[in-house]
Amino acid sequence: MKKTGVFICHCGINIAGTVDVKKVAQGAARQRGVAHAEDYVYMCSEPGQNLIIKAIKEKNLDHVVVACCSPTLHETTFRNASQRAGLNPFRCEIANIREQCSWVHRDMDKATAKAAKITKSTVERVRKNEKLEPISVPVTRRALVVGGGISGIQSALDLANSGYEVVLVERSPSIGGHMIQLSETFPTLDCSQCILTPKMVEVSKHPKIKLMTYSEVQDISGYVGNFKVKILRKPTYVDPAKCTLCDECTKVCPIVVPNEFDLGLTGRRAIYIPFPQAIPASYTLDDKNCPSMFPVACGKCYHVCKPRAIDYDKKPCVEEIEVGTIIVATGFDLYDKAKMAEYGYGKYPDVLDGLQFERLCSASGPTQGKILRPSDHKEPKEVVFIQCSGSRDPENHCAYCSKICCMYTAKHAMLYQHHVHDGQAYIFYIDIRSGGKNYEEFVQRAVEEDGVVYLRGKVSKVFQEGDKLKVWGVDTLTGKKIEIDADMVVLAMAMRPSQGAQELAKKLKLSLDKDGFLAEAHPKLRPVESVTAGMFLAGAAQAPKDIPEAVAQASGAAAKAITILSQERLYHAPTVAVVNANLCTGCAMCVQVCPYEAISLDAKGKAVVNEVLCEGCGTCSATCLRAAIQVKNSTPLQVHEMIKACLGG
Ligand SMILES: Cc1cc2nc3c(=O)[nH]c(=O)nc-3n(C[C@H](O)[C@H](O)[C@H](O)COP(=O)(O)OP(=O)(O)OC[C@H]3O[C@@H](n4cnc5c(N)ncnc54)[C@H](O)[C@@H]3O)c2cc1C
Repeated sequence: MKKTGVFICHCGINIAGTVDVKKVAQGAARQRGVAHAEDYVYMCSEPGQNLIIKAIKEKNLDHVVVACCSPTLHETTFRNASQRAGLNPFRCEIANIREQCSWVHRDMDKATAKAAKITKSTVERVRKNEKLEPISVPVTRRALVVGGGISGIQSALDLANSGYEVVLVERSPSIGGHMIQLSETFPTLDCSQCILTPKMVEVSKHPKIKLMTYSEVQDISGYVGNFKVKILRKPTYVDPAKCTLCDECTKVCPIVVPNEFDLGLTGRRAIYIPFPQAIPASYTLDDKNCPSMFPVACGKCYHVCKPRAIDYDKKPCVEEIEVGTIIVATGFDLYDKAKMAEYGYGKYPDVLDGLQFERLCSASGPTQGKILRPSDHKEPKEVVFIQCSGSRDPENHCAYCSKICCMYTAKHAMLYQHHVHDGQAYIFYIDIRSGGKNYEEFVQRAVEEDGVVYLRGKVSKVFQEGDKLKVWGVDTLTGKKIEIDADMVVLAMAMRPSQGAQELAKKLKLSLDKDGFLAEAHPKLRPVESVTAGMFLAGAAQAPKDIPEAVAQASGAAAKAITILSQERLYHAPTVAVVNANLCTGCAMCVQVCPYEAISLDAKGKAVVNEVLCEGCGTCSATCLRAAIQVKNSTPLQVHEMIKACLGG
């Protein structure tokens, strides 16, 4: 008879506090086919692993069961230890007696009985485990980065500077993201554009980076190491190779629409360059607003363009690229201001959001850095900043903290005081969150050196009276009602996942968290990995973040991507589904339920499994009415044996 070894971990008191581990080991020792059973305080420790290796060698064990924590934590540890002792690693299984037993029970007798059953049933299962070899596939040594904000730029540069080819896809006409819209950045107040534009230029000139602006991911197939991605390239209708940037086209364009870069504080023409430092420095003809795209043609820009760079007949095209790994850095948008009616956004022109205020402060902004009211271009003498506009408000808006607003509001108030010496900035806040290097000092500076007045409390209403904006609030520290006649109100709006993040996540099979941000594989141990193998997350797409954090995560994602790109071949767990063609009727129910799109029907109408895509979840096996598909080492027979063991058979 084949010999099984059983190893029970105490996990300190995590398991031993609720489960009588000695009793479980004694019970296991009496089980049919168990040649060795012992318990140890930490099986995952080196001495613990050595116990397993020693027993495998000395007792010629054929199978191993480690009763411990979840397999997501230490399955690899114990399979590797078994392999070091000469055992096929897929003949080692985990019995989860921590997450599925000790942590969820209080009664020691009941928990011990349950742990014994879990262990016993796993022994029955492992006895039927086959020897398996990992599946190996070659790697396409190229990366795709989606989103050209600071995070995407950083990831792309790190990958390219490590010698790997990168395709950087940005949906707008230029890279730069939100950072390029900022004036100065906390906590150092250095000019955002001055520190970002060198990186943007580096991206455009890097021989390893292929930049695709005005483009979006349309479709994806494949798997880690070998993704095929279709990129939709929208036409700009202007050939950058012919365009001399003479700007004659914008001078004759009769259309003016709100300028997205200045958040509607200025207008732009239908043919435009998004901002002076745009990369690529090239015109885009906005086909939604250009009259030449409609039956009544205008054609003014075409006629004035001497080098004939404009072509209205250009069509969108789809380019397919092959990559080994993908980094998603699609960033954030601000919360929908239309939902903040109580603060008068959209109703009163002098109620702005934080990004609009950034543009007012910026030397390249609509007022060349002078802080002026949009309504009458007068300098505002009293400005109220309202933090947590939409954040930390589970009843009405977003439950979470947007994390960066305390800092950028302190910056805004500080910049305002620097620009308007006789002005007064007020900040309404719930509490100040300034965790970060030199952040607390920055906030203190706003109060002590720049005279910003912080008022702890919420604003109930903002309304216009004459040319003033009445701000009604409360100071919860003094308990007094506050009324301020402000000239301008700036809302620190909550950060939301960028528009379209949900659709992109669906295409890439990424998970979203409860707030719609991209979900990481593990909040502590795998913060830059997504749940889909080979796809990584960077920047504000994953959660609200400031620039240093976004850059750090982007470099982390690039480093993780390199762990794939640096390999010639990748290895995939062989515990995948396998089809018995004789039993398969081709009903395709397994095709429909497979969450990894790993199953298809072949020419004979039989189900076939793409082993590299299969994650061995077993959904197909549970669905198949003919039991024609089963997962290696989790077969129906093994499940039957486990149930029988639990029932005392
Ligand atoms: C008012 C305000 C002031 C701030 N001030 C500071 C400061 O002083 N200091 C600081 O450290 N941080 C500051 N921040 C935070 C900073 O803006 C962010 O940390 C930074 O922009 C995050 O970069 P990102 O690349 O992750 O996202 P983003 O800047 O949002 O860039 C994402 C990019 O992805 C593109 N994209 C989105 N979806 C797709 C898609 N489907 N396909 C292709 N491309 C796509 C977008 O067009 C965009 O270019 C401020 C934020 C705000 C709102």
